[in-house]
Amino acid sequence: MTPGPVHVPEAIMQSFSAPIIHHRTESFESDLKIVLEKLPLIFKTKQPVFIQTSTGSGAMESAIVNTLSPGDTVLSVVCGKFGERWTEISKAYGLNPIVYTVEWGKSFEVSRIKTYLDENPQIKAVLCQGCETSTGALNPLHELGELVSKYPATITIVDGITSLGATHLQMDAWKLDVVLGGSQKAFMLPTGLSMISFSEKAWGFIQKSKLPKYYWDIQREKKANEKHQTFFSSPVSLIRALKTSIDIILKVGVDPFIQRHEQIAQAFREGGKHLGLEVFAQNPSPTVTAFKLPDSINGEKVQFIMENKYCVTIAGGQEHLKGKIIRIGHMGAIDPEHVTSTLEKLSLTLTELGHKNNPEVAVKTAQALLKDLKPLPSLQ
Ligand SMILES: *Cc1c(COP(=O)(O)O)cnc(C)c1O
Repeated sequence: MTPGPVHVPEAIMQSFSAPIIHHRTESFESDLKIVLEKLPLIFKTKQPVFIQTSTGSGAMESAIVNTLSPGDTVLSVVCGKFGERWTEISKAYGLNPIVYTVEWGKSFEVSRIKTYLDENPQIKAVLCQGCETSTGALNPLHELGELVSKYPATITIVDGITSLGATHLQMDAWKLDVVLGGSQKAFMLPTGLSMISFSEKAWGFIQKSKLPKYYWDIQREKKANEKHQTFFSSPVSLIRALKTSIDIILKVGVDPFIQRHEQIAQAFREGGKHLGLEVFAQNPSPTVTAFKLPDSINGEKVQFIMENKYCVTIAGGQEHLKGKIIRIGHMGAIDPEHVTSTLEKLSLTLTELGHKNNPEVAVKTAQALLKDLKPLPSLQ
């Protein structure tokens, strides 16, 4: 129950046990072709989506090196730990990041971003997260896309790693320029793949980009994809597993799959309230719920007991939130039993640490909110 890596369902596990074939074969190329055709349905774009053999952070780096040039000014919107990563990558590549720091737990304000853009017309890109996983906050990407679309010399670069497939992110309709994702989140896969897509406006930036690139060079990848190949050796097993993942998502339907996340998140939030916990984020994401703990309770102890006594892995707070919040991830293959069992075990843990709570009401509340939730198709 962490915000990545997530539980990998059986049908996906099975796709890993097929024989490993060479990637330059008709059999693999036909699988890759299908995956490349279907991935844009999840990004909600008409643009090609590229697959990279890397974790999500690799796609963040790829987004920067493919679109920008040395010395470029960027606006790094920092709502938490993952926002800080944008600033660090920008510095590593000799960019000039202006940092808009948002209080952890809050979402960014588009009006503030407008002020930054108007006062600093040299800003080439706005870097941000769709969901800031370290706080569980969901950001207003739709309004951001609308705003930045009015600035011809600026693009949005969105870390959609805990947004894609699980929140209503629409790359084209919301006019987002670069959107990227990672495999170990709502895609229900192990870690190791990232995905990235560029708008027409961003392709204009790619033509002019002067940052050095080799492994991440998306123009080479595009040429290879046109022949249903990846530029470097393909991670055959992960891409076949991605094909199974996309099959599951499309069988449920992209929007119903997203709504499923919203319903599960709602059950966690409401259930948690009956355990005496407060939702940390002002505008909470459907993918991860951060709970603020009472002052008397140490979050690291909660995590330890959940893990070692009850075999439920949850995440803690980072940096100044260490010990103060716990984070429960609920992306991908989550069923009502995962929700109720996590709430029950959390209740026992809190009781053990001296925090009175009401497990029956918490579980009943969650069950009532999930009573019409359909199980994911098994594809077997
Ligand atoms: C998980 C996550 C990342 C990815 O990190 P990797 O460990 O590189 O896969 C980046 N951004 C967000 C918002 C995340 O949730």
